[in-house]
Amino acid sequence: MTLIPEYRFDTFDEASADFLVSIGVKGIILDIDNTLEPYENALPGERVISWLASLKERGISASFVSNNGRDRVMLFNGKLKLPAYYKAGKPFTKNIRRAMVRMGTSRDDTILMGDQIFTDVLAAHLEGIRAVLVPPIKDKRDPITRFKRILERPILEKYERKSKNASRL
Ligand SMILES: [Mg+2]
Repeated sequence: MTLIPEYRFDTFDEASADFLVSIGVKGIILDIDNTLEPYENALPGERVISWLASLKERGISASFVSNNGRDRVMLFNGKLKLPAYYKAGKPFTKNIRRAMVRMGTSRDDTILMGDQIFTDVLAAHLEGIRAVLVPPIKDKRDPITRFKRILERPILEKYERKSKNASRL
């Protein structure tokens, strides 16, 4: 079990439909807060909507698994109507399995995208699926978040070393 994500992008939509298809993804489980939109945006923006449409076009299913509450998730998902799980309790994996069942995907062809190593990446790897990490869109500056970022640093450095080695092959 590792905390190092399989993939990293600067924004969610850099993980294009083409890319996801190329790595054998048929379903993507999405964190919402700071992955797709910052906390204060109640609704998905144009970029989120068009990216999700491009995934759908290529036959990739999507679902939301968020640790945030019911109102946040239901409002965000109001028009998208994707399978959505709130108060998901990541890194616990119960709702990740539920999302896979709803999407009809398996561990091999499902990926989880999120902005936090100790909830999103850990949850994915505890369930045995791949993880794609994006930096938080708008990082909170409270002491706990700052402390978590410090803990994440060595893991991100490991990712950088690993991907450098991989590109040398
Ligand atoms: Mg998040």
